[in-house]
Amino acid sequence: MQRELVTHEKLSSLGLLAAGVAHEINNPMAFVTSNVRSLSRDLAAQEELPEELREYVDDVLPATLDGIRRVNAIVADLKRFARNDPEEPVEFDLNAEVSSALRLSQGERRGRCQVELELGELPPVMGQPRQIGQVVLNLLVNAVQAVPGQGGVVKVRTRAEEEEVVVEVRDNGVGMSKEVLGQLFQPFFTTKPVGEGTGLGLAVAYGIITGHGGRIEVESALGRGTCFTVRLPVAAEERVTTPLPPGEGRGEGL
Ligand code: ADP
Ligand code: MG
Repeated sequence: MQRELVTHEKLSSLGLLAAGVAHEINNPMAFVTSNVRSLSRDLAAQEELPEELREYVDDVLPATLDGIRRVNAIVADLKRFARNDPEEPVEFDLNAEVSSALRLSQGERRGRCQVELELGELPPVMGQPRQIGQVVLNLLVNAVQAVPGQGGVVKVRTRAEEEEVVVEVRDNGVGMSKEVLGQLFQPFFTTKPVGEGTGLGLAVAYGIITGHGGRIEVESALGRGTCFTVRLPVAAEERVTTPLPPGEGRGEGL
């Protein structure tokens, strides 16, 4: 449990840091965003444009705007992470988040490994769908980075289990030693070269899943592979409970 305490402590200092960084980036980014938008609008409206500027309108500015959107999305995530009471929780379908995480991981995979997807029938979960999607994406990216160049297989499975929904991300990659297993949820713990890993993926996943009242478990064998299992409670409305007397309960207070 000591380890969990340390993780919590580091996560809250990380929250403070994230809040500071988000705040500092926010204002200059708002300025950059609006300037680049008006520049591309104005240039696009020009009837006769020299060839060099045409390239800006067609390629450079759209790519710049993509970059800006990405930075803005990261800043929004940092703020949410820092606030710790993100958006209003909603009921959502975990399978939809798994599918979209899979699409987002395509860039990382670049056809490098095979992905097998098995979606079970699931009751809805309550919480922040985007955050849960982020967790699945972080697990997928790790799995893809862990598998060999040839013959790598990542299996993603969802299933319902009593009052929980479960998502499993399994790979046949490098696996982990006991030392690594002991530290992998620590913020900034990474075994990857600079530029490839920040060591934040699993710390963030841990924060998000425990924040949803769920658990994240890992099994790994060195040289054979790893399986991460995320368990989330089923939305309260969907749980099988003792029926309430007529006129009470369901739907009230919503
Ligand atoms: P990062 O991926 O940036 O290093 P993470 O928090 O996502 O940070 O992961 C921390 C460390 O845990 C990784 O550097 C790696 O050593 C280990 N790890 C995570 N997932 C896997 C996996 N599927 N297979 C092997 N090692 C893993
Ligand atoms: Mg990672």
